[in-house]
Amino acid sequence: MSTKKDFALANKFIAGGVNSPVRAWHAVGGNPLFVRRAKGSKIYDTSGKKYIDYVLSWGPMILGHAHPQVIDAVVKTARHGTSFGAPTEAETQMAQLICGAIPSIELIRMTNSGTEAAMTAIRLARGFTGKKIVVKFDGCYHGHADSLLVKAGSGVTTLGIPGSPGVPEETAHLTLSLPYNDLASLRDAITKYGSEIAAVIVEPVTGNMGVVAPREGFLETLRQLTANENILLIFDEVITGFRFHFGGYQNLIDIKPDLTCLGKIIGGGLPVGALGGKKEIMERFAPKGDVYQAGTLSGNPLAISAGLATLRLLKKKAADYSALERKAQNLCAGLENLFKEKGVRVCINRVHSMFTVFFQEGPVGDLVSAQKSDTRLFARFFHGMLKQGVWLAPSQFESLFFSFAHSQTDISATLDACKKTLKKL
Ligand SMILES: *Cc1c(COP(=O)(O)O)cnc(C)c1O
Repeated sequence: MSTKKDFALANKFIAGGVNSPVRAWHAVGGNPLFVRRAKGSKIYDTSGKKYIDYVLSWGPMILGHAHPQVIDAVVKTARHGTSFGAPTEAETQMAQLICGAIPSIELIRMTNSGTEAAMTAIRLARGFTGKKIVVKFDGCYHGHADSLLVKAGSGVTTLGIPGSPGVPEETAHLTLSLPYNDLASLRDAITKYGSEIAAVIVEPVTGNMGVVAPREGFLETLRQLTANENILLIFDEVITGFRFHFGGYQNLIDIKPDLTCLGKIIGGGLPVGALGGKKEIMERFAPKGDVYQAGTLSGNPLAISAGLATLRLLKKKAADYSALERKAQNLCAGLENLFKEKGVRVCINRVHSMFTVFFQEGPVGDLVSAQKSDTRLFARFFHGMLKQGVWLAPSQFESLFFSFAHSQTDISATLDACKKTLKKL
């Protein structure tokens, strides 16, 4: 186990000891492990202990850690310079690859994070429609921009309240947060505010309250209602983009959002985000248009080389995605049996290769039901699994991920770890 000392020292110089809050393990208690390296499906802490990793940097590492071809691409690129502030051929190749994979994306802009992509999507939607209100769904996360860091107001279809000190009420009031999967409240909101709503942003499959799949008809109706009212529909596919196949979740359900946010997988483990969509809308960006967006390091050569190498490998592996899903299916089935034998009630939500074990009976279809989970029991399970060499996300309300590098041996070892953990739970 790595040490309290690492974290104590970090706390002397870094706010809260971490550069992103969930890394501090507040939801499960204890000191976070510090990582030294990772390879394939394994991650190693500073004491050299090895873990099977189901966090995968919160989604990006679908090829497994330190994939040789991705690393080679980054190293080779670095030798020629790490940033130019001028266009490169690789950026065009990246854009072409993504536009080819996701038909609703006619034009694209690369950013440095998913947060930037979502923040930019909101500005563009407001600029394009000339309207101000943004609709999001409770439990969906779209990065930490002011207008997206907003909680539901006191009742359904009342304007939002700040999700953090520092977000002005005036900004929060322009965001409406509705229950996910609830068409009635969506219809109400559109009836009440339709002429003022610039955009609806949604995780088509949610990862950020734990995995929740869209109910049948939810996204289809969302598309219809927004189109009728001149509201832009934004799919936040930062997690789901290239997670289920070589493209977005939108391809699988045959829905074309107006704008799509990407990140995580498309950066291959480097800081990358992207916003893409209809030509007519995207052309509103400066320099052609009047909506401002920029970035000193946007389209950075190293980030693009990692992303390109990842996407090119994924394109070749197109047929392997079903094997990826099968592995996740096997693990989840095994886990379900173990919990049942032990008499611990869990609801496992899985969509393809992302899943969450909710410590409750379920079903879990929105934030309110997700929050019924026994988070203390989850925390004990988390620490038990960690001792057995399995690294899970340090919160009940996160998705776990599979990579192409996870093997049947990893699955068996994980089930074995679960068995041992449950004995002591
Ligand atoms: C991670 C995430 C973001 C934010 O991306 P960052 O790169 O962390 O800024 C936005 N939307 C969704 C759905 C995410 O999961």
